[in-house]
Amino acid sequence: MATVELSVASGAATDVGRVRQLNEDSFVAATPVFLVADGMGGHEAGEIASAEAVATLRSLIGRPAVTPQDVYALVTEARERVVAIETSPGRDAGTTLSGVVLTVQDGTPYWLVLNVGDSRTYRLAAGELEQISVDHSEIQELLDTGGITPEQVAGHPMRHVVTRALGAGGYSDADFWLIPVGPQDRVLICSDGLTGELTDEEIAQVLLAEPHPQAAAERLVRAAVLKGGHDNVTAVVVDGQHDGTDGSTIPRAGGDDEPDEDTKPRSGVPTARRR
Ligand code: MG
Repeated sequence: MATVELSVASGAATDVGRVRQLNEDSFVAATPVFLVADGMGGHEAGEIASAEAVATLRSLIGRPAVTPQDVYALVTEARERVVAIETSPGRDAGTTLSGVVLTVQDGTPYWLVLNVGDSRTYRLAAGELEQISVDHSEIQELLDTGGITPEQVAGHPMRHVVTRALGAGGYSDADFWLIPVGPQDRVLICSDGLTGELTDEEIAQVLLAEPHPQAAAERLVRAAVLKGGHDNVTAVVVDGQHDGTDGSTIPRAGGDDEPDEDTKPRSGVPTARRR
């Protein structure tokens, strides 16, 4: 099978916000790895944790062929490095990690989406913005069980409680999904400092209005800071374009013969890759 030629452009921006003293977010935006990490643990432990996680995955930059197994192995290594960080008693360092790694399966480019915690990965395709990661948060669990309605999320006291992280003494498995890269995809990866200030509609407006990925990332971060900046804010924007086969006709790498459109982790458990 001929390899689909993919062109990739990206941009990234981060800001400490208007309340915090330290920026505990970290990111990487260099082919083939685009990730955001939001550290936790206090006393600089969060800053170190997010930086360690991102540094581990940075080793993918410039590698000619990255497999999902390479990424799984590095996420495991990142977890070990975060757990090894020395902290004051009773405070474990931890970090979220969310984003995409570009991988090629049988000549077809895929976004390998990974997520642990409540940073988010979205995809803008055909003018529609969709969150393609699933938050590991108390709020998401309450939504899933019908304990609250979507209208009750804003301002909810549990909205910052994360149920999974790398380190932080808790459950730390990451979710993985493989999604074919569409002809004109834009991926946004962000920390909760962005989604805590801006609605999905406001985010979509910026992504649709600003063609340049660096300018889009900067506009999103600036908007979140202006709206309150209660937390550190980070945004990575990745544009992937190709003129190969339409993503909707490509069977998924899982061997499913159904020519489904991409995975829908929120509703479609069978396509979620979890380990
Ligand atoms: Mg945060």
